[in-house]
Amino acid sequence: MAGNNSQSSQSRPVIGVLALQGDFDAHRAALECAGAQAKPVRTAAELQDIHGLIIPGGESTAMLKLLDYENLFEPLREFGAQKPIFGTCAGAILLASKVVNPVQRSLDLVDMIIERNGYGRQIDSRIAPIEIAGHSSEAVFIRAPIIRRVGPETKVLATYHDAPVLVEAGPHLAATFHPELSANGNPVHALFVDKVRSFKNPSGR
Ligand code: GLN
Repeated sequence: MAGNNSQSSQSRPVIGVLALQGDFDAHRAALECAGAQAKPVRTAAELQDIHGLIIPGGESTAMLKLLDYENLFEPLREFGAQKPIFGTCAGAILLASKVVNPVQRSLDLVDMIIERNGYGRQIDSRIAPIEIAGHSSEAVFIRAPIIRRVGPETKVLATYHDAPVLVEAGPHLAATFHPELSANGNPVHALFVDKVRSFKNPSGR
């Protein structure tokens, strides 16, 4: 029946991690802990056999260049129209509908305005306590962006100093921090794996 998930996506979904830049291994460990299988993704063809994708942190301008070099920008946008993507830090910048400081291209999959390096130099990196779905957790910020505004369809799941740090837009998730770097675990990968498990693909594939 159209819209049904395959069996594997419900039990142990395969989640790709864009491996052009950023920490594949920490995401792999966090995904496996959350009951998913992780696969590095470097080409458009590798997007075919995954149920969801993580775009990790790094440097969003460098990632944009690598996406162009690998001809991955459009395939990623098309993937995002079909399946869930979770962007962390630079990955969240790539998912946004609008990027400032400076203005740069983005995939326009999460309706929000995001400001690069929003905390400035003095709070370059820090670990801050945050609450996710009523539970105490933490956010590891590394030259993090700040989400300045969210659209009406974008739901705020966690905040820090009054700014959203974890948001949900349809099938997608975006975090301005690095959940894969929390030493004692972080519930965000499990949240994404659950979203992938329950996601009904609009095209039924
Ligand atoms: N400052 C980076 C950027 O603007 C993001 C940092 C990160 O991903 N940790 O792209």
